[in-house]
Amino acid sequence: MIELKLQELSRQMSACQACDLCKTRKTVVFGEGLASPKVMLIGEGPGETEDETGKPFVGQAGDKLTKILGYVGLSRSDVYITNAVLCRPPNNRVPRQEELEACRWRLDLQIQLLKPRVIVALGKTALQQLNGSPVKGNLNTHFGAWKTYKSGDHEAKVMVTYHPSYHLRSPEHAYKVSLPHWIKLKDWLKNENKT
Ligand code: URA
Repeated sequence: MIELKLQELSRQMSACQACDLCKTRKTVVFGEGLASPKVMLIGEGPGETEDETGKPFVGQAGDKLTKILGYVGLSRSDVYITNAVLCRPPNNRVPRQEELEACRWRLDLQIQLLKPRVIVALGKTALQQLNGSPVKGNLNTHFGAWKTYKSGDHEAKVMVTYHPSYHLRSPEHAYKVSLPHWIKLKDWLKNENKT
């Protein structure tokens, strides 16, 4: 049932023209993974490989994400992965506020259908999309603390952490600063699996 609704939403979105990203994208990268996941991950937006293949996080950042998930004991098929915007911004620039706004209802619908217990916001743009407004102040203050996100009648815990691209750019620093976030998720999963 959820799978069918997701398929229908994906079909609707495949011709989306709600923002200018539709002019340059090749493919709308809807999202993929488990239909009733405990954990949903939200990235920034598709890159070149994702635009070519229609799958989220399949380039270098995707390989890094797969490794990080392995650390917390998850494989990609245990989670659901999508992005703050579904279409590749030209030259991989950061999505603009109006592009995020045009894509927000779709993310909300995905959250309401999938009902993840935990949402991992991978970086500032994902957080901005969940907040519905630009992130003010020091981003560091948002990292690592459990937050909540309400969508319709569903409430999920949110963990904000560094985008996998940061792990590629500054591996040592990214590892050091993001390890506590992933440990928190790992602990949460351990408790969940006990019940
Ligand atoms: N690939 C994605 O799907 N999202 C990102 O944010 C980066 C790479």
